Amino acid sequence: MNSRTLSEYRRVVGQPPISQLQQLARSLEGATVVHVNSTREGGGVAEILNWKVPLMNELGLIASWEVIEGNDDFFHTTKAFHNGLQGNSVPLTKPMIEAYESVVAKNAERLRPLLEQADFVFIHDPQPAFLINLCPNRRGKWFWRCHIDASRPNRRIWSYLRSIVNQYDASIFSMPAFTQRLDHPQFLIAPSIDPLSDKNCELSSREIDSVLGRFNISDEIPLLTQVSRFDRFKDPVGVIEAFNMLNGSVDAQLVLAGGGATDDPEGAAVFEEVQEAAAGNRRIHLLMLPADAHRTINALQRASTIVIQKSLQEGFGLTVTEAMWKGKPVIGGNVGGICLQVHNHHTGFLVDTPEGAALRIRQLLNQPDRIEEMGITARRFVAENFLLTRHLREYLTLMLGVRRGIENNLIAV
Ligand code: UDP
Repeated sequence: MNSRTLSEYRRVVGQPPISQLQQLARSLEGATVVHVNSTREGGGVAEILNWKVPLMNELGLIASWEVIEGNDDFFHTTKAFHNGLQGNSVPLTKPMIEAYESVVAKNAERLRPLLEQADFVFIHDPQPAFLINLCPNRRGKWFWRCHIDASRPNRRIWSYLRSIVNQYDASIFSMPAFTQRLDHPQFLIAPSIDPLSDKNCELSSREIDSVLGRFNISDEIPLLTQVSRFDRFKDPVGVIEAFNMLNGSVDAQLVLAGGGATDDPEGAAVFEEVQEAAAGNRRIHLLMLPADAHRTINALQRASTIVIQKSLQEGFGLTVTEAMWKGKPVIGGNVGGICLQVHNHHTGFLVDTPEGAALRIRQLLNQPDRIEEMGITARRFVAENFLLTRHLREYLTLMLGVRRGIENNLIAV
């Protein structure tokens, strides 16, 4: 996990936000906080917990991060939950529910003492959600933190998950469009990045060049990059279609870089589809990277002229924040959390189709000044809205609000 201390962030955000965190945390000193998700690496949730847990500890809380363990049937079912929450029509059978509940029950045997004693429990996404049914003697407050674009969930999947989620004390979503009819309060907290992590820290041009060299990527041709798990919602094939539509009208090369997450069983199949779509085009580089290739991804993002995130559904899209922090304009799908970050014509362009993406790529590559100007605006926008200090502050405020609210009878939670 991240070993950086809060004082190190002073040089990025200044002293006041750090003092503010310390001030807020004083009232939470000694509170026990447990986060639970389903993978230690790969994907945005792991990325966030990596810094959030150590920094909460530095602030005087007693925070820990637990990962539930599962088998193939479990992860196929939870991937169906994920796809269903994002609106796909997916089956939900009795054996799937049994595979899900029995694996969570096994994890509950190990986690129950810790979870039941904690002051605050944050359960991330659907995979561990059922834990609440198995921890009847809860001392603290339980939050379901949904990182997924749940704006139009499949009804059948949501009706099953809703019966579980409703037992939580509150839910947290990334944006208003994702909130649901639930019997408890819902809070809005957008994700964020760690500006000092290997994924986002400054890199020397030597290191960037060496990454390009390692993958035979030219440093003389404008580079378009999408970094994503190989997941159909990220639309890697749509990115290739957009690239092919450029059809030599502008000089460019494309990198699709991704890897698997241990809780995502569909990656290999999607990668095959992508390989097929890219076959024969020497200007397209497909990189299957290990889960810890953070500096490599950092270098690819920094070497890019434009970053693409052409998702069809997106909870937030940390890859968008990462690129904007590096001063890159982003051409992003006009969906979910991407719309919180890409402000059309200012920090990039929102697109609905491969044709739209091709149009915007061509337009930007013909306007180098615009690329630079958008990149500057994008970095400033991240500095103001999507760095970890803002994110931590909102978590502390939420915990304080809930605790104080109960003590003072201010809010019904
Ligand atoms: N990521 C990575 N390796 C990969 C693909 C993605 O480290 O091969 C990182 C990416 O840089 C970002 C996170 O995983 O930090 C993905 O978060 P995002 O919110 O974009 O999407 P998610 O995978 O959570 O749907």
